[in-house]
Amino acid sequence: MLLILTMGHFTSSKQPDNPVSLQKIETMIKMMTCKQLGGACDLEFKAETFEEIAALSRAHAQKMIQQKDKVHGEAMQKMQQLMKSPESMKIWMENKRRAFDAL
Ligand SMILES: [Zn+2]
Repeated sequence: MLLILTMGHFTSSKQPDNPVSLQKIETMIKMMTCKQLGGACDLEFKAETFEEIAALSRAHAQKMIQQKDKVHGEAMQKMQQLMKSPESMKIWMENKRRAFDAL
């Protein structure tokens, strides 16, 4: 008997209305093309961070090269030239990151 009374007490407590919690959280999805990221086509990548978009473009380029895509192969060769110099690679990455941040 005592248990039932206690439970009745708890169920009577009302949940507060909170419309703020129903609001959609805004996320910043940015878009860059394969070409903008040193690739060769106009495929669009969407991501929230530069690291994410760079990984997407890398995965895409690798897939295209596996399929013996000529233009992506050439773009990759250019990137490999660039990677021979850590300094110019760093500058390249910084430029791309800045372009991404400016979107
Ligand atoms: Zn591409």
